[in-house]
Amino acid sequence: MLIDIHCHLFSKEMIAEEFLRISNNFKDINPEQISKRFSNADVINVLQFISHGMDDDCYELYSHMKNSYGQDFIAVPLMLDLTYASVSPFLENDEENEEKIKTITRSINEKVLKAIKSLSGAKSSKMLNLFEKIQFKLDLGKKNIFKDNYEIQIQDFEALKEALPDRVYPFFSIDPRRDSEFKHGVLGEIKKHVGKNKTFAGLKLYTALGYSPTDPVLFDNSKGQSVYSWCQRHDIPITVHCGYSGFSHTLKRNVVHGDIYYPPAGQVIPMKHLSEDNVLEYQYGIFDFDEMVKERQIYLNHPKLWRKVLEKYPRLRINFAHMGGNRQVAKYANGLDTGYWTKEILSLVYDYKNAYTDLSFMTPVESPRLNQEIFYEKVYSNLPNKIKKKIMWGSDFFMLDLAETDLSRYLNQFKTAFGKDFKRISYENPKRFLRIKI
Ligand SMILES: [Zn+2]
Repeated sequence: MLIDIHCHLFSKEMIAEEFLRISNNFKDINPEQISKRFSNADVINVLQFISHGMDDDCYELYSHMKNSYGQDFIAVPLMLDLTYASVSPFLENDEENEEKIKTITRSINEKVLKAIKSLSGAKSSKMLNLFEKIQFKLDLGKKNIFKDNYEIQIQDFEALKEALPDRVYPFFSIDPRRDSEFKHGVLGEIKKHVGKNKTFAGLKLYTALGYSPTDPVLFDNSKGQSVYSWCQRHDIPITVHCGYSGFSHTLKRNVVHGDIYYPPAGQVIPMKHLSEDNVLEYQYGIFDFDEMVKERQIYLNHPKLWRKVLEKYPRLRINFAHMGGNRQVAKYANGLDTGYWTKEILSLVYDYKNAYTDLSFMTPVESPRLNQEIFYEKVYSNLPNKIKKKIMWGSDFFMLDLAETDLSRYLNQFKTAFGKDFKRISYENPKRFLRIKI
């Protein structure tokens, strides 16, 4: 049996909603700059990504994965609570903003159409079809912009779990800053949805969306029971994104409770020491996308912050996803000290009994070079057994579309590179992490 420990099966309702909200961030961007940023290859990957989000429901996405893998498999789809991921949703009241978005949309459309025309035959007409749908969604979406992605994802996964009870083990996600929105707080919501005989087998946290790994609700709630203490007591697995690329919130400033990693000090500090009112100011915005994400990941998701979590909860069952991300791993594999994020994660996995890491979105890197073979030879083979038994294979489908649209090729690259060790990372280790009997 194959276990994909890290994938995403977001449905179209949720994507359309977030797509629209995120588009609100384009208001300060010059359309010409947008067209300049994307190559045709980028546009085609993005279209494949959107195609999975727009065309298919969770069940169809699972079936697509199963067909690509060519075998029966267990999916661990991760939910993502995007409630506070972006700026004000009040798009429809902002006429000036709407004008700007129209101009930007026109500019993107031209670029995308050009890319579609560069494709051949059947693929071109499929993409064209999809593209018409996206435009339609953008117009329609304004009417139901306040519909919440959180409930939609819960409903989607409840239906999927009911249909495939022993083939999907979804992970629940909730933003700790929403504590006062629920009668029994964030922990109450988690207790309702996560655990034995519930829809969700574990918890997914994505702190670069704007909160600290030591946010009081997670780490040390004044009411005496925190999310981590409950998870540790009940041995509930948690997966956290742990790399400095990916996605982040897009605000230029936000309120953070708990600790941050502070680069000038090279250490973890309480947010209060940086600003009395807990306001964290950022240098980069949406237009410098890569720098924006990296900046927020460093402040809010650095492995040293997670070490602080594990010092207090040493038996926490936790997966540091992406092992720092493929670019960090590439540096580490090539002996560069700049691959410190990967180094830190490996030392957490070594030091703490229930700390794991996954290889999702581990696509090849040009420079310094990384592919699955190099990873196996230069990283995996040199690891002590203590770490090897806590490395898990995953795809990050359908985020993976952004770099690799062929899932079976992705799987086979690992099978070839790992040989007999593949079973260990794709079955034995994830089975132990999930604590399931199969
Ligand atoms: Zn992911």
